Amino acid sequence: MTRVMVSGPRRATTAICAVECGAKCCRGGGVLTLSETERRRLEGLAGDRRITFRYLQRAYRPRSPGDFRKVLGPWELRFREHEGEQCPFLDEHHLCAIYQDRPAACRAFPMRPEPACLLWPKEIP
Ligand code: SF4
Ligand code: SF4
Repeated sequence: MTRVMVSGPRRATTAICAVECGAKCCRGGGVLTLSETERRRLEGLAGDRRITFRYLQRAYRPRSPGDFRKVLGPWELRFREHEGEQCPFLDEHHLCAIYQDRPAACRAFPMRPEPACLLWPKEIP
């Protein structure tokens, strides 16, 4: 197993996330946790995109220190439930179509190494 030494936070870069990685964090089994205000804002930005929001009635129990469930919610947008199994705001170039208005969970990313993440092992100038 390869061990990656990390020191301090990494900041997202368009070149690595969109071009090299293909924006894995916005696709597949990921879930976007949203506050009520964010859900309404995304609904307003949706245009003709079909978006399914799920209301979470269960109590939030953080799974890890960086788990947004402890501070955000109560809504979820599950990528797998959308066309192409990706966030409906991800465009064909793997860029976020609402980048300036993206939710807090997306703004804080990436907080920790994820499996197959290209960002963390690299030193970013
Ligand atoms: S997995 Fe890493 S490189 Fe890929 S989109 Fe997420 S943070 Fe960026
Ligand atoms: S809102 Fe933008 S940054 Fe957040 S998951 Fe969707 S495409 Fe990715």
